Amino acid sequence: MELLGRFGKEDLAILYIAKQEDKIVEFVESLQPPIPREEKWVLIISTMYGCPVGCLMCDAGEYYHGKISTEGMFEAIDYMIKKRFPEGKIPVPKFKIQFARMGEPTLNKNVLEVLRLLPERYDAPGLMPCISTIAPKNGDEFLEELIEIKDRYYSSGNFQLQFSIHSTDQTEREKWMTNNIWDLAKIAEYGERWYKKGDRKITLNFAVAADSTINPEIVSHIFDPEKYWIKLTPVNPTNKAKDNKLQSGITEENLDIFPLVKEFRKLGFGAAISIGEWEENDIGTNCGQFATQYTNGRVSIRESYTTTEYTLSD
Ligand code: SF4
Repeated sequence: MELLGRFGKEDLAILYIAKQEDKIVEFVESLQPPIPREEKWVLIISTMYGCPVGCLMCDAGEYYHGKISTEGMFEAIDYMIKKRFPEGKIPVPKFKIQFARMGEPTLNKNVLEVLRLLPERYDAPGLMPCISTIAPKNGDEFLEELIEIKDRYYSSGNFQLQFSIHSTDQTEREKWMTNNIWDLAKIAEYGERWYKKGDRKITLNFAVAADSTINPEIVSHIFDPEKYWIKLTPVNPTNKAKDNKLQSGITEENLDIFPLVKEFRKLGFGAAISIGEWEENDIGTNCGQFATQYTNGRVSIRESYTTTEYTLSD
């Protein structure tokens, strides 16, 4: 792997851009200020070079150059770990590895291999892998195997699973993502088999556009608040979101009064808005945004070095 550069801030998030076999990959390490790295550290890795799904709001889907190998994913993880913890011992109580950057993880079985190998590869008692998925129909086998892996290696709440829901209207969901996805009833049926006593609640994530159809009553008829947690996020201003004229329903101005949080809570769900950092929008580090621009030749590392806080690799 050849590191091409890094972008961002030490005390918030650093986006790394690298080349693996002539393909561009991006990965991120992030902190949640004011929590120090010694307490919580999050690595976010890609599972594909681009993505074949092509969701309406995601720049990762502008191209697809294949799945990342097991070793390719470990190269990204190793790089970030060795920089901070050269011995491979990570004494961080909350050490998350999210398979949530470029690519739909359930369409790459190498992710399952990485999940099996992680506990023996690092001395990391706080390790918690996180999978975020749109639940594509051809991810069935992956998701079945994932239950076994979670129960074997990450029981007692050491695994986080998130489904991208986005809307309670299936037609709208298919327009945003693809028509090749599970419906809400199928996700709930799977969740029943996934959830064991002591597990973390499954996250249902809604990226909220100004005209999204999100009906908390429908969610409460299908999903059990004891097993699911609701996460609402703004629609980030990616190039794809702008092209598709998707406006965020959650903004800096209405954040504190956004009504859906209360509505979900009234129905017994834990619910919150997760904004990430608004600053990310300014520096263009939303998922897939930078690698896509780089791959498409719209930006070069050196250009961005001169125009932003971009830092060349060591
Ligand atoms: S949101 Fe996920 S599944 Fe959709 S295009 Fe982006 S990476 Fe692929």
